[in-house]
Amino acid sequence: MKEIIAKRAKLIDSSGIRKVFALGAELEDPVNFSIGQPDFDVPDALKDEAIKAIKAGQNKYSQTVGDSLLREKIAGQVKEEFGWSNPAVLVTSGVSGGLLLAFMTLVNPGDEVIMPDPYFVMYKHVVNMLGGKCVFVDSYPDFNLPVEKIAESITDKTKLILLNSPCNPTGVVFSEQRIKALAEVAAKKDVPILTDEIYERFCYDGRCVSIATYYDNVLLLRGFSKPYAMTGWRLGYAAAGESLKGVIEEMTKIQQYTFVCAPTPFQKAAIAALDYDISDYVKAYRRKRDLIYDGLQDKFELVNPGGAFYAFVKAPGGSGTAFVEKAIKNNVLIIPGNVFSEKDTHFRISYATSDEKIEQGVEILRGLARLDT
Ligand code: PMP
Repeated sequence: MKEIIAKRAKLIDSSGIRKVFALGAELEDPVNFSIGQPDFDVPDALKDEAIKAIKAGQNKYSQTVGDSLLREKIAGQVKEEFGWSNPAVLVTSGVSGGLLLAFMTLVNPGDEVIMPDPYFVMYKHVVNMLGGKCVFVDSYPDFNLPVEKIAESITDKTKLILLNSPCNPTGVVFSEQRIKALAEVAAKKDVPILTDEIYERFCYDGRCVSIATYYDNVLLLRGFSKPYAMTGWRLGYAAAGESLKGVIEEMTKIQQYTFVCAPTPFQKAAIAALDYDISDYVKAYRRKRDLIYDGLQDKFELVNPGGAFYAFVKAPGGSGTAFVEKAIKNNVLIIPGNVFSEKDTHFRISYATSDEKIEQGVEILRGLARLDT
């Protein structure tokens, strides 16, 4: 029979996460440390804004670039933060939408894309799908930005460096000193940087510094999914200063024939979201981070995660996959490190769940660590 599936579809491998879901499907009321979304709901005031927009009939396409008020507001914020004089802004269907458009705009077959390993899963699969080549730069064991190794990996074929801080899956926030050093390396070699800052608001120990503070050749992606728990609303944005304005224009062109626009009534609610104070949620998540780190640090090898809602823990016994299978048999869902890495030595915990479940999960994991020592 003729092959009907395009070769590019076969370049995507979703088996790692699927396996965890399949193993977890039979569990009754498990401790679910696998899901990468907040456990709170969209704040009522923001739900009301979306309902108001729907009832007012704002249900048609928006402009492809996005609602003009929302873009104005985003532009104002990034202008103030980075001093960009006239920022270009595109409202996207989640940061995922922004990533796809950015990679489609920037990556030619054979182009090299440098990313610290561990990395957010989507980067690898989309770059591969477009015929690009992922260049993984090992950031174990502390997961801070490996600046020297990145510098050594830059070649004539390097198209882009990807950053994600606070990071999924490690929860690590790159230090200001390393970010500054990378900005210098990238400027010297004239390499653009894509910075995925979807977790910038979940920042627990001081400031989370953006590379856009130190470097102009930056494509900034931020989102609404995580800070306001609206993962199903599919909203994010891409922004750039003068040097990468053209990239935003091309992304907009591709959005016109793919996503068309981000969901219109939710864009209206996003205007209010940008003014909404989430500091109480962040405080609650800092406490969850402490529960995880304090609960595990004497039994496991892990870095205290400064942001996002993940911890990346070394697996007792050495195999992430083997430890995950054992944890699932004991009613705790976690994800093996090899889903996010070329190595299989760790596992990811998402602590975006209730304090009670975290305490329960910590107890079970501590018991499993004991068995291996
Ligand atoms: N980037 C990172 C690092 C993420 O963890 C996620 C969601 N898990 C995304 C992008 C995509 O988020 P969304 O499309 O919901 O904005």
